[in-house]
Amino acid sequence: MQRLGRRIADLVAAHLATLRDRPIRRILPPEHLAALLASPSPRQGRDFEQLLTYLEHQVFPYHASEPNPGYLAFVQGCPTFPAVMGDWLAAGFNFFSGAWAVSPGPNALELLVLEWFRQWLGCPEGTGGLLTSGGSAATLTAVIAARHAVVGDDPSRIPRLVLYTSEQAHSSVIRAAWIAGVSRKQVRLLPVDDQWRMDPERLFAAIAADRAAGLLPLMVVGTAGTTNTGSVDPLPALARLCAAEQLWLHVDAAYGGFAALAPKGKQSLAGIELADSVTLDPHKFLAVPFECGCLLVREVRRLEEAFRIYPDYLKDHEPKSGEVNFADRGEQLTRYARAIKVWLGVSFYGTEALGAAITEAIARAEYAEQIVRKSPELEVMAPARLGILCFRAHPRGWESGERLDDLNRRVMARVNDGGQYLISSTRLKGEFSLRICTPGFRTTRADIEAVLGQVVAAAQRET
Ligand SMILES: *Cc1c(COP(=O)(O)O)cnc(C)c1O
Repeated sequence: MQRLGRRIADLVAAHLATLRDRPIRRILPPEHLAALLASPSPRQGRDFEQLLTYLEHQVFPYHASEPNPGYLAFVQGCPTFPAVMGDWLAAGFNFFSGAWAVSPGPNALELLVLEWFRQWLGCPEGTGGLLTSGGSAATLTAVIAARHAVVGDDPSRIPRLVLYTSEQAHSSVIRAAWIAGVSRKQVRLLPVDDQWRMDPERLFAAIAADRAAGLLPLMVVGTAGTTNTGSVDPLPALARLCAAEQLWLHVDAAYGGFAALAPKGKQSLAGIELADSVTLDPHKFLAVPFECGCLLVREVRRLEEAFRIYPDYLKDHEPKSGEVNFADRGEQLTRYARAIKVWLGVSFYGTEALGAAITEAIARAEYAEQIVRKSPELEVMAPARLGILCFRAHPRGWESGERLDDLNRRVMARVNDGGQYLISSTRLKGEFSLRICTPGFRTTRADIEAVLGQVVAAAQRET
């Protein structure tokens, strides 16, 4: 066991130490895929070393390298090594974190990290929740809890439910609504203002119109750090409106929530503490490995009212006061001890260093914005917010439209095929935009200069 463990630690360390030497992305060729899928299940066991070699050469090369400093697409996952070790510990000990009775230590650690998160966001005492597989699972859990609060055990009311969010909301919000039984026609994707934020007046009008039509408003989902532009909905205004309308306010802070550790980020999140529930994603800005999301709920009993269920074979495991069966707060019974990686990653570096890294991550996108503003060939599409910048190549004299969109598509392909940087795209007000997202602590300002230099060079070659 020790030998194999060291082998794996060496392999991962070597990978992480040489990220810049390898291409940012490798596609799996179709003939290779066909060969891989044709392998029969092994009748006899094989040597571990051989199996590792197979993984190392036949499987692992084909991926987009998330922790790579050049990964600027989507939302990079860039875990610290102590946090990675936390996942290995959780798997090695194989703690069962669904029930208090069988692993009180790791469950207490989960309560502790949830309490840290609560304090970082400034949520009221008594707020609690659970760690989940990711932001999508956290939001789904919140929607189910809100649904239970509104319709209880009366399914006849479900068809009338309406969920309000903005057109910039993450797709997981819409999916959560569908899973909870909210009709696709009754998920309101409200238009945003010129800074990509939900407009409380339009929200108010939509709720009034739905009530007048006999529908049943379920909840409002605001976003703190949209995936497209990093924008933050006007949380204090949403909270006031939801209080007046007696509606559940959920804030999807999967992307932006841990910016609370950086002074500038904390300012942008003002009002998040007023939410009824919040989604966080430690596997984004908090630098823990996939998978790790989190749901915090102001009145944690709401979760237990929605999810708690005790079959005969679990009767002995009912928790006593102060104990928590995390299985009572969500859909998972068997769940692993995600708290270990969070606790290790946070404790090894401390919140000062993590906050400084997040401050610098936010500043990297602002630095990119400065360069874009100074470049006559480039144009800002949405200013840098919480580590996200949207921009495009825009040669002098070109009009907006399909031809310009197409140029930027080719620019993106050229940069991504270069092998050093991976950028992504989005659409803003109908126009194609390039997008970079800069949470990774390995990315430097020199990388920002280099990738924007590649965009300019690619645009020149394509025109
Ligand atoms: C990433 C993200 C999600 C989804 O989280 P997963 O961890 O991928 O399930 C939801 N909302 C926002 C704003 C995100 O950025």
